[in-house]
Amino acid sequence: MRHIYNFSAGPSVLPEPVLQEAADEMMNYKGSGMSVMEISHRSALFQSIIDGAEHDLRTLMNIPDDYEVLFLQGGTSLQFAMIPMNFMRSQKADYILTGHWAKKASEEASIYGKVHVAASSEDENFSYIPDCDNLDILPDSDYVYMCENNTIYGTKFHKRPNTKGKILIDDISSSFLSEPMDVSKYGMLFGGIQKNLGPAGLVIAIIRKDLISDTVLPWTPTMLRYKTHADKKSLYNTPPTYNIYIVGKVIKWIQALGGLEKMKEINEKKAAVLYDFLDRSKLFYGTVRKDSRSLMNVTFRTGSEEMDAAFIKAAEQHGMISIKGHRAVGGMRASIYNAMPMEGVLSLVDFMTAFEKSKISDCIL
Ligand code: PMP
Repeated sequence: MRHIYNFSAGPSVLPEPVLQEAADEMMNYKGSGMSVMEISHRSALFQSIIDGAEHDLRTLMNIPDDYEVLFLQGGTSLQFAMIPMNFMRSQKADYILTGHWAKKASEEASIYGKVHVAASSEDENFSYIPDCDNLDILPDSDYVYMCENNTIYGTKFHKRPNTKGKILIDDISSSFLSEPMDVSKYGMLFGGIQKNLGPAGLVIAIIRKDLISDTVLPWTPTMLRYKTHADKKSLYNTPPTYNIYIVGKVIKWIQALGGLEKMKEINEKKAAVLYDFLDRSKLFYGTVRKDSRSLMNVTFRTGSEEMDAAFIKAAEQHGMISIKGHRAVGGMRASIYNAMPMEGVLSLVDFMTAFEKSKISDCIL
């Protein structure tokens, strides 16, 4: 049992049993006399770690056989370039702009071809998810790009966009393994693992096999071609071995909890506690439209920057860490990823209740 609750947006809290198991195995993994960090990526021992992680991820997410699972490096941001390099074959793509990361991805893609904005919520500082039932999509666009959960703004798609038959590519960095997803509806799902799955430095990409080919934009480096990694089963070069090992353990932890349906149920309950409080509060309010609320990143404010700063400081003194909102939104952000226990959310709400009471009585006095 640790003595703080970590509400960081990423890198973020990981399940305690996973950290404990990793600590227990640190000096001597499975009788090898070595830490996983010291084992060759070409050894049978590591092969069983990566095969196990892929197998368990396929089972957990129900990934169809015609999808490749790739373990990649360079952070989610490198995918912003790899996606157009590999898939912008007619050099046109549609982007749905729902926040900072989708916008970054679109700006990167515009280096390689024409980016068309199919929908955007920038008009209201990305505080909602636009209606994507009848998107304005280019007839010859190569794919439609979206970001499932907008970490900074605290919004989430609750309905898949209608891409009118175009391939859908989705950045799921901050909602990875937080709920079931129908993988077959996407051309590609991808995300950095540093929020729900493990330590920073690994990206997992799930890509429909027929989309992976040698036909990429000219001068695409070997390392940035999905085919390079698919052909070598993510072992073209040295992969982030320790991260893959931790991901394998986090997947087993979710399986033991009851899988992704159960994970979603737990996440919905946790988020409801916080949102219900925000809806009742006389001091705090949520910053996003109710129908667009994220289950992972809950953004809120008091309406006064001084009060926000006082709250963040007091929360930290009470062991609630990293609750400051991103500067684009201000205020507070509580990231309540899979590994945040309900007790953490209840403690936060108790603390907010007490803070609110003290401020209201200050005003009355
Ligand atoms: N996409 C989303 C949704 C994110 O939240 C982040 C970072 N938190 C990124 C992309 C960028 O990730 P990275 O730092 O791994 O490049």
